[in-house]
Amino acid sequence: MIQNTLRLRITKAAETAVRSCHPWLFSDSVQEINRAGQAGELAVIYDRKDKFLAVGLFDPDSPIRVRILHAGKPLTIDAAWWQAHLEQALARRRTLFDSQTTGYRLIHGESDGWPGLVLDRYDATLVLKLYTAAWLPRLDEIVALLKAKLPCEQIVLRLSRNIQPAAERRSPTRLDGELLFLSPAGAEPRLDKETGAPVIFSESGLRFEADVWRGQKTGFFLDQRENRRLVETLARGRRVLNAFSFSGGFSVYAARGWAVTVTDLDLSAHALASAKRNFALNQDFSTVATCRHETVQADAFAWLEKSPAKFDLVVLDPPTLAKRATERAGAIRAYERLNTLGIHRLARDGILVAGSCSAQVSAAEFFDAVRRAALKSGRKFSELNTTRHPPDHPAGFKEAEYLKMIYLGFKT
Ligand code: SAH
Repeated sequence: MIQNTLRLRITKAAETAVRSCHPWLFSDSVQEINRAGQAGELAVIYDRKDKFLAVGLFDPDSPIRVRILHAGKPLTIDAAWWQAHLEQALARRRTLFDSQTTGYRLIHGESDGWPGLVLDRYDATLVLKLYTAAWLPRLDEIVALLKAKLPCEQIVLRLSRNIQPAAERRSPTRLDGELLFLSPAGAEPRLDKETGAPVIFSESGLRFEADVWRGQKTGFFLDQRENRRLVETLARGRRVLNAFSFSGGFSVYAARGWAVTVTDLDLSAHALASAKRNFALNQDFSTVATCRHETVQADAFAWLEKSPAKFDLVVLDPPTLAKRATERAGAIRAYERLNTLGIHRLARDGILVAGSCSAQVSAAEFFDAVRRAALKSGRKFSELNTTRHPPDHPAGFKEAEYLKMIYLGFKT
């Protein structure tokens, strides 16, 4: 049954937000709707003069009722539009990477006009991660589009935890870690979903594994690439501590950059085992081969507090410390404490590389927390650098800004 278009009118404040290209329309901003809508349906938003404002994906079960796909002049969302929309995201990356880097983000959600959808490339594997159930009814269409535009050997589906029940209700086989496509040309699956073998890709000429089937995010923290490159340039002759190391991304770069020793510290044995394999993958680099690599499985806060060890470069890249707005103040205090502990572990002339991926904490708030920790240490320091989002992870609106890092060089 073909239904009439889903039409909405919204509050004045929401109209202003949509006009300025904010990608979310919240349920409490909806004033009128012509009928009940289904997840993934296109919803058209009109202003009070009945002029077209925007069109987006409807989601009756989410407080973000519509995720805007397009705002401005009226247009039809058809197959050609989807193709052009994908092409736009791909064009944005075309000049960013050479053959030394085969792992990067192709679509970064809202900021690329694909709200709640992420697409990462790991060599010949594409990983499609959905953060909203609104995409589930469109999955076949998207996979067809990806196959047509992006030569690949396989496409893996990842689902954020909050939409896994909805996915299973739609189809019991629609699972996190599902293989959506396997190229007939690559007769043997390059990767094995059952055994969960990771995929190997390159980043800046280094080789890494990504657990695309069940790893965090889509298997690797691609967003830290530029910071890893910077750490490589700072590591020469240093004893490096990589706290919250995950699979040792920062560490392998530091090792190539002539670090003397690298210590990976993480709560997860799984992550540390992956870090060991990532070192093993890069033994062709003589500097990686000669660097002493150690792993420590511990809570970073507790370990930093009690360990007497000193380092010349400390990377602190914890998971998000504030998931909700109410956790913001506590997270800022935790950042200050964590960095105080990190600075205590720094030897003379040491460098602190401190990161935050909490969208709830602004860059200014985070940088100030780290500076406070540095000031309270009583040691002389200078600010070497601050960084934000890499170009394949653009942040197009305030809520999308999560990543920030600050580099401090201590003189005493
Ligand atoms: N720096 C990493 C990404 C960090 S992800 C990279 O560039 O790839 C956060 C990591 O922190 C995860 O591996 C998680 O296992 C670890 N973690 C979470 N809480 C921790 C804690 N209290 N102590 C140590 N590690 C922790």
